[in-house]
Amino acid sequence: MKMQGERAQSIVAGRARQTTSRSSSLFEDPAWEERFDRLIRLVHRTALIIELTGTDIKENRLKSVIDSRLAEMGMQAIRPRGVQPTCGARSFLSARQDRYDATYLMALHFGNRFTDEMSQVDTNLGRALDHALEVYAKYQRDCYPGGQIPRLSFESFVVLIRGIKSHEIGVRTCGECSARYPVPVHRLGIEYCPVCAVQDLKIRDARRVLDARIEAARRERRTAMGLDKPPAQRA
Ligand SMILES: [Zn+2]
Repeated sequence: MKMQGERAQSIVAGRARQTTSRSSSLFEDPAWEERFDRLIRLVHRTALIIELTGTDIKENRLKSVIDSRLAEMGMQAIRPRGVQPTCGARSFLSARQDRYDATYLMALHFGNRFTDEMSQVDTNLGRALDHALEVYAKYQRDCYPGGQIPRLSFESFVVLIRGIKSHEIGVRTCGECSARYPVPVHRLGIEYCPVCAVQDLKIRDARRVLDARIEAARRERRTAMGLDKPPAQRA
């Protein structure tokens, strides 16, 4: 893929190796090989891989390399059909739990450098991709430690960060818990803090479980004392 305009000069991207003597290596820089292997475990959409790596490798060659590397890892490429999801789609972050996960990913991604980094353009694609892969791995470890499938895919995470940087997704700060949370355009005006909402639910659930336990213990004690038996059965 050829880069367009001025960015072509300044962007540090995953350039293809010029020789094809070793079919197993794709890039000039070995750091890109490792990065690429981590990426293809998470994303199979060729267009997105080309965008994230800025590579000039031809699409067909890229597809076949991805397929053979995944096969070595015991995986199979699942290429989604249709266009990439966008942050303006109504389905994007429509569930509260998705917005909670997005809030967590945003906090990991931007850290304390929210306002600085939100408007920055990544010119070093390798560094940007390393950061995104680290953030996503931490999200997986923290929120889905048993190897469950995370609610937000790596692709959704990329769409989220892009949407924030392009201001297509608004960011609000909660007055209660000071979490910074995303507000997609289709939820403007109605959005409340997903962290507070999910915590409220957790507290209510915890209270229900606790109440049920207390009630069970109370019943057990009353039964043991013979207090719950009907009067006719009492000795
Ligand atoms: Zn809150």
